[in-house]
Amino acid sequence: MRKKRWIAAGVALAAAALLAGALLAMGNVRQAPTMTSPPASDALTQASADLDTYEVEAVLDEATRTLTCTQRVTYENRTGGELNEICFHLYPNAFKRVNTSPAVLAGVDEADDSWQAGEIWIEDVRVDGEAADWAVLGEDEAALRVCAPLAAGERAGIELRYTLSVPALAYRWGEADGVISVANAFPIAAMYEDGVWRLDEYGPIGDPFYSACANWTLTLTVPEGFMAASAGAIRESRTEAGVTTLRIEAPAVRDVAFAMSRRYACAQQMAGDVLVSSYALRQKDAQAALEYAVSALGQFEAMLVDYPYPSLTVAQKDLGGYGGMEYSGFALIDGSLYEGDRQLLERVVAHETAHQYFGILVGSDQIEEPWLDEALCEYMTMMYIDKEYGRQAFNALYEQSVEPALRISHPVGVTAGSPITNFLTNAEYAQCVYQKGAGMLHGIREALGEAAFLSALRDYIDAYAYGIASREDFTLSLQDSTGLSWRGFIDDYLDE
Ligand SMILES: [Zn+2]
Repeated sequence: MRKKRWIAAGVALAAAALLAGALLAMGNVRQAPTMTSPPASDALTQASADLDTYEVEAVLDEATRTLTCTQRVTYENRTGGELNEICFHLYPNAFKRVNTSPAVLAGVDEADDSWQAGEIWIEDVRVDGEAADWAVLGEDEAALRVCAPLAAGERAGIELRYTLSVPALAYRWGEADGVISVANAFPIAAMYEDGVWRLDEYGPIGDPFYSACANWTLTLTVPEGFMAASAGAIRESRTEAGVTTLRIEAPAVRDVAFAMSRRYACAQQMAGDVLVSSYALRQKDAQAALEYAVSALGQFEAMLVDYPYPSLTVAQKDLGGYGGMEYSGFALIDGSLYEGDRQLLERVVAHETAHQYFGILVGSDQIEEPWLDEALCEYMTMMYIDKEYGRQAFNALYEQSVEPALRISHPVGVTAGSPITNFLTNAEYAQCVYQKGAGMLHGIREALGEAAFLSALRDYIDAYAYGIASREDFTLSLQDSTGLSWRGFIDDYLDE
């Protein structure tokens, strides 16, 4: 009897598994995340000691598509001098008007009757518990000045209360196809350099963001049924009375971004000590992107250094044709790439994974020196193709993308080393910065041989991990590692 029941149960289970497998293959079953990230490594814990902290509580109102937020920041004055104010970026306000919207200016959003504004509405600012003087700055209202006299080495506790209004928009930030992405949305301290706050505007070209590593925690409250794909590790998830609350920890990161949807499916896998998660609208697409992310991570860990964070997450979002966008431990991938033969999906997932090393672990000024992360990521993507598919595939990609870029001449002032503000279109920007820049790195690899080239990149990462590097730092690091002078070669490539 018992045995018979077990057999019956076994048959039923096998049938259910077969059915689930068939439905999965058809992309009709959506899986929720079931795995949790390992704890932060000792090295990451050490790197996160003494950094500034950001604690954000965000509650989604689905009907109005707003997030009500409280954010506590501990900011240390590391400038060496006295500060009278601390400035934050309010990037969502760039989307408040048609004439400043990066998406409209980039031509991926239209200023028609259905156009919707996005914004961040600051309600209250406190410094060390007291009401503070503050002002929203700029034509686009995309900066916040908080008055807070702060001697060198002192810390201020700043509390911001605000509301984020998410626009309907296929871009880094916005809702499209049932996916809400909240990226470059939380106020983040501007960099302070040479006595000025770097309040570079959120323009339509490139990724105009630049920030220091800090320790972030996000407590996100959403209606039950939403899945959230996020930077950092989800340390707690509980659902009560129709509401899900997630607690997300992200030590030593440059920002926290996330995407959420009722329509998401999730695929997950451990890759060594890293939980890799992929969210997409169809289970099979989540699985495909997961496999690419795991392969890319494996190749980059073999070529460069171990990925330092406990989790890596990729999430599908309609970005209006932009391939992908990197954040710390997280990337948004354009929905169109999940269609067709997925070759571009693989390359974009690899490119955004390479950013975890260049742009994120080693930070750089993405406004003034965008080549420093983009060219490295473009070239590492080509090296990934080399490792996965062989030299012939690498050569084909090089001939298709880099060689045409090397032949084209651009107007004066438009070079591989130019700041993003010098470019008129994203196509021109990509050709110069990504592809010509990749050509330069290929020249270095060819001259040194692969082993010495990768060894030099590892030295560069080790020297600047969690910090900020410049062209000068890259050049000197390469010269130190190889014992050769690279300045002339690099300057010629980047400035001509
Ligand atoms: Zn990139």
